[in-house]
Amino acid sequence: MIRKLIAGNWKMNGSLEANEVLVRAILAGVGTPGCDIAVCVPAPYLAQVAGLLKGQQSVALGAQDISRHAQGAYTGEVSGSMLRDFGTRYALVGHSERRQYHGETDEAVALKAKAALDVGITPIVCVGETLSEREAGQTDDVVRRQLAAVIHENGHCITEIVVAYEPVWAIGTGKTATPAQAQQVHAVLRSQLHAASTAAAGIRILYGGSMNAANAAELLAQPDIDGGLIGGASLKAPDFLTIASAA
Ligand code: PEP
Repeated sequence: MIRKLIAGNWKMNGSLEANEVLVRAILAGVGTPGCDIAVCVPAPYLAQVAGLLKGQQSVALGAQDISRHAQGAYTGEVSGSMLRDFGTRYALVGHSERRQYHGETDEAVALKAKAALDVGITPIVCVGETLSEREAGQTDDVVRRQLAAVIHENGHCITEIVVAYEPVWAIGTGKTATPAQAQQVHAVLRSQLHAASTAAAGIRILYGGSMNAANAAELLAQPDIDGGLIGGASLKAPDFLTIASAA
């Protein structure tokens, strides 16, 4: 059985003061977790949160994005080696907010996943359909297309990635996919990964989209849901810890 991963995506939230309170509360309550746990923090706070997480093994550090480039004239971008300098273990790539507001294409996302893998950071590759795509019956095609670009670029080390299925209509809206809806898409993704690798059973596929303390257990009980990517609920230590316990 895969060890599940619960990753918090703080998005553009936090402050030096609030981060310290949140991380200390998570560490105080986490005990010896039965799953992997990570917090994906805004880039300016990587150093602070790395310091707060130092000397413990329960909670790993994650970034919310990574440059596809290794270095150079790319103003505002943060490279994989810079993330590594702060002990970053995971990087979100292709979050729908970056696809939507920053025009990230499937190919750009695939190159970001490669940039992470090149420096030993695990990319958490986000895929998911919009509401209109779901209503048009295109969900499976959309997520397959998004994942295919990542497999095409990174097929030789595809077992090193984490996939996150995040239906866009469920992110930050309070509308969660039902466990059956989520499982159906996870099964589609799993079979695509199986076609790419004989070791696909070991690739974690997280669900994200309004997962919270009340609905996590049922979602995480689905056979192909190997963890969660948590936005809003990751900003409240008790909720985040309840989700981690459910995993
Ligand atoms: C996310 O941003 O990845 C996410 C899942 O957000 P929320 O849990 O708030 O829907």
